[in-house]
Amino acid sequence: MKLISACLLGIKCTWDGTGKYKNERAIGLLRDEILIPVCPEQLGGLKTPRPPQEIQGGTGEDVLDKRCKVKNKKGKDVTKEFVTGAEETLRIAKLFKVSQFIGKSRSPSCSCKQVYDGTFSRKMIVGNGVTAALLRRNGIEIIDEEGL
Ligand code: SF4
Repeated sequence: MKLISACLLGIKCTWDGTGKYKNERAIGLLRDEILIPVCPEQLGGLKTPRPPQEIQGGTGEDVLDKRCKVKNKKGKDVTKEFVTGAEETLRIAKLFKVSQFIGKSRSPSCSCKQVYDGTFSRKMIVGNGVTAALLRRNGIEIIDEEGL
């Protein structure tokens, strides 16, 4: 049993409210195992659809350590919602005793490799999203969707 970014299964929870980010390899895993879909941004109270959001000049670890914030493209601070969503995702992982999470690439919440740099110009930096960072701190392995 693993947790998975819900959007990878075609659930319409992404910022634009579409199901276009689904990952067919992830959907294929359902033949053999149980995947629990979670969307940290919705769990944190954000609406769908919502404006795009980026970590401002740092990584998920920096957000957890209060060194930087997450803002949406309109300039609204959504740090609290991101941290709440990460905490709720960790709660689900503990309830189900899950030790692996399949994360959506490039997400400011779910990515375990790279995140956008906060300028909304599609520039990337190396690092985890906020949820991936919190899960990793708690011993949960993060699997990037592109490695499936
Ligand atoms: Fe997908 Fe994660 Fe973004 Fe939710 S927070 S839409 S699960 S990448």
